[in-house]
Amino acid sequence: MVAETHDFDPGGLRLSAGEGRRLELDVRIEPLLVAGERYAAVPERVPAELDVSRMLGGGYALRLRFRAALEGPCMRCLKQASPLVEVQSREVDRPRGGEDLESPYVREETLDLSSWARDAFVLAAPDKVLCREDCAGLCPVCAADLNDLAGEHHHEPEPDPRWAKLRELKLE
Ligand SMILES: [Zn+2]
Ligand SMILES: [Zn+2]
Repeated sequence: MVAETHDFDPGGLRLSAGEGRRLELDVRIEPLLVAGERYAAVPERVPAELDVSRMLGGGYALRLRFRAALEGPCMRCLKQASPLVEVQSREVDRPRGGEDLESPYVREETLDLSSWARDAFVLAAPDKVLCREDCAGLCPVCAADLNDLAGEHHHEPEPDPRWAKLRELKLE
């Protein structure tokens, strides 16, 4: 079993400049709230691949890859949805390389893998979490699940209140 990694010290690999290494590790992705609903990464411990390369001139180039399902209510029909999210993210950390070259996830030589994995997961997640791409959603009038009803579902349009008034006038 691979150890679960929250923080990672690339210096511990003792890479020489230009050298790289690929690591297999498990990251834990904390649940997230989207539009007030709770979504979780599945599995809770996600097997991930971390490539660490020590750059010439100092610092590290990092690449993180994993896939996990985003589980939570479908944004159209509220049934359970779990679209698979493919994550591939790169970070470069070259100390004193200027703002663009300092990764926000590296502090004092330590990589905050949990935060990076979570942010990358959120960025890669679909804008709309759906149980399936063509989910028909709920009827806006009666909230029936339109996926269960084979297309034949509609309501008589509400009579326009102005016409109702006219009809009353005619009856007088
Ligand atoms: Zn749905
Ligand atoms: Zn309806």
